[in-house]
Amino acid sequence: MPQSAVNILRHVFGYEDFRFHQADIIDQLAQGRDVVALMPTGGGKSLCYQIPALMRPGVAIIVSPLIALMQDQVSALLQNGVKAAYLNSSLDGEQAAQVEQQLLSAELDLLYVAPERLLTERFLDLLSRSQLALFAIDEAHCVSQWGHDFRPEYIQLSILHERFPDIPRIALTATADATTQKEIIQRLGLQQAKVFISSFDRPNICYRITQNSGNARDELLRFIRNEHQGDAGIVYCLSRKRVEQIAEYLSSKGMQALPYHAGLSASVRQQNQQRFINEDGIIMVATIAFGMGIDKPDVRFVAHLNLPKSLEAYYQETGRAGRDGLPATAWMNYGLQDVIMLQQMMQNSESDEQHKRVERSKLDAMLGFCEITDCRRQALLEYFGEPLPQPCGNCDTCMEPVETWDATRAAQKALSCVHRTGQRFGVNYLIDVLTGKDMDRIRQFGHDKLSVFGIGDELNNKQWRTLFRQLIARNLLSVDVEGHGSLRLSEACRPVLRGEQTLMLRKDILKQKTTAKQRKSKTFVSDNDVPLWEALRECRMRLAKENQLPPYQIFHDATLMAMVENQPQTHEQMRRISGVGDHKLELYGDDFLSVIQEYAGQHKPSATETVAETIQLFKVGMSVEAIAAQRNLTATTIYGHLSKGIETDELELADVVALEPEKINRIQDMLLEQGEDAVKLKPVFDALDKEVEYGVLRCIRAALIRA
Ligand code: ADP
Ligand code: ZN
Repeated sequence: MPQSAVNILRHVFGYEDFRFHQADIIDQLAQGRDVVALMPTGGGKSLCYQIPALMRPGVAIIVSPLIALMQDQVSALLQNGVKAAYLNSSLDGEQAAQVEQQLLSAELDLLYVAPERLLTERFLDLLSRSQLALFAIDEAHCVSQWGHDFRPEYIQLSILHERFPDIPRIALTATADATTQKEIIQRLGLQQAKVFISSFDRPNICYRITQNSGNARDELLRFIRNEHQGDAGIVYCLSRKRVEQIAEYLSSKGMQALPYHAGLSASVRQQNQQRFINEDGIIMVATIAFGMGIDKPDVRFVAHLNLPKSLEAYYQETGRAGRDGLPATAWMNYGLQDVIMLQQMMQNSESDEQHKRVERSKLDAMLGFCEITDCRRQALLEYFGEPLPQPCGNCDTCMEPVETWDATRAAQKALSCVHRTGQRFGVNYLIDVLTGKDMDRIRQFGHDKLSVFGIGDELNNKQWRTLFRQLIARNLLSVDVEGHGSLRLSEACRPVLRGEQTLMLRKDILKQKTTAKQRKSKTFVSDNDVPLWEALRECRMRLAKENQLPPYQIFHDATLMAMVENQPQTHEQMRRISGVGDHKLELYGDDFLSVIQEYAGQHKPSATETVAETIQLFKVGMSVEAIAAQRNLTATTIYGHLSKGIETDELELADVVALEPEKINRIQDMLLEQGEDAVKLKPVFDALDKEVEYGVLRCIRAALIRA
């Protein structure tokens, strides 16, 4: 008797409910109809065909272009007790023959196969002698000739429909745009298929872009240390050399960082990739060659040390973070140099004019995204045609609203400097002229006589660089084709020069230091639970090694977190944890239960511990509000905890309290007026018209006690 979809979801995969369109898609396929499914990375595409594969009689054939992904999926299915296998070039003749035998004797529920093998007459013949449940065409955007993953064999997959007209098909992709969607339908003959499009938002990814203020390497290090110490992550760099440098640098700072680029031998690449997948907390420093076919769910950050060339690329690359749905960060650092270099690369590219225009407008969109002053997620989704009504609250501009300044006059000066010096010079020279540097070179050209010489002392060097970057990013200036980096005026600068357009720009350089606070903690569990969390992870690592599996195939982080939260004591309770299906319960349930039992009852938080926990969370960068929310306490209580940290010198008052120094001084004077012990807060609270809350006052008082 066929099982119901929900039953399979719960017992085989251990999940409680379907997500998004999963239930409808499964229903369509189970009834023998075709489907096209567009879902973001991590959206849960696999279950859409895996469950109908188990509901329908026969074997499901999954076409997949990526060997690593096939192996990963098959191994995950075996863990859940599902009969699955793959056929690709990694198997020798004997192994392949064995799988074919399994296919013919109906021993498989799912068979993953590479397209080139599927299309052989021999294999098609094997299929015609088997009972088939369905065809799933994964990474279906590979049929698109315009896309970057085009694979000619994919076009021939239309043969499946011709040969096996009664077998339902599903085409899946994480590529969102309408052109690709049309191509998939047309080329695979899926006109009658029901199309399901999910939201492409990845709410768990926090988007952040920082402007390079001189040293990207150190900023990367600080970012990882403050927010992702010990986490798995990917750092993208443009060149092989840079990959090597950054990997070495991070390693020298005690991190586990490995390089990955096309210049390394296949065996080194393979080895590094395996370590990234099989160990905890490895940072892969890579060119964009890395990432395709990596299905690691617990990548906690993706960092870009250069600008991707389009928002499509940015979305795809950052999308490799947080597939498991837990918080993850997409961090990027970019500067003037990136902007200039990308423009030059584009202008010198071999493409024809039409392609260049397309590339150019994609780069413009990317640059616009970097310089934006509103919610990044709104802009990103808008670009993909999916407007988000509210700012997201989980990107840098939402968490820390950007200040803007009226840069019209400064821009006019910069633009006329370009004009007066003949549109033949690069940024550094232009800034030297604007700031009136005493230099032979300037005198030789007679530029010290120009009206623009030395008119720019309202900004310093860095600030001018920022301004130039923004002018180029907004296309008011363009970079020369010859590659010397000289700047030219473009049509779009006229209204600004003539004073018809005001230019409001990001004020990034002008406020550099404020950002350390209000970051999310990297730990998912509260401090008290860390020992249990670590013990569960250790148990997982041991089992992973024993079974030669990546840890996430034993259980995902989300599943371990649920164990920490619920501390199941019995098989029945363990079975209710999300991600624990029947088969895994049998395989691993007892191991994890004994860890939890050993730990239970050992731990009760004391008063000092609760203070220490708050201080620790604050130190890793969480805001008072965030700590309060996470710990389910009020902000006043949290400030109270922090005031203890100030008393003991563990924290600086200025880090905790954001008031102006003068105001703090005034409050301290008011407290001191009370005499020696300065204990009473209420009079001060009242005198300040209740504007400064008690918690903050307590912190200010703590600083006095310490002094
Ligand atoms: P995609 O292929 O779309 O990138 P996956 O199929 O790998 O995504 O699913 C992403 C993660 O979400 C996997 O770890 C998967 O087990 C999990 N998942 C999928 N569907 C559900 C569900 N209904 N409930 C809970 N977790 C789910
Ligand atoms: Zn936002």
